[in-house]
Amino acid sequence: MRREVVTCKECGQPYSVRVRDDGSFVLPTETGECERCGANQFSQVADEPIGDD
Ligand SMILES: [Zn+2]
Repeated sequence: MRREVVTCKECGQPYSVRVRDDGSFVLPTETGECERCGANQFSQVADEPIGDD
């Protein structure tokens, strides 16, 4: 699965996420939401993937 760095659109917290085939993000949190503010909207930081597993 592709991995990328995203930031929370609400508070700016960065997360290293996995990207599903449909382009949705898999957050490293229990809820799939930002653990700081609870938002579920994230922005990609870079176009380049940081890894592939
Ligand atoms: Zn947040």
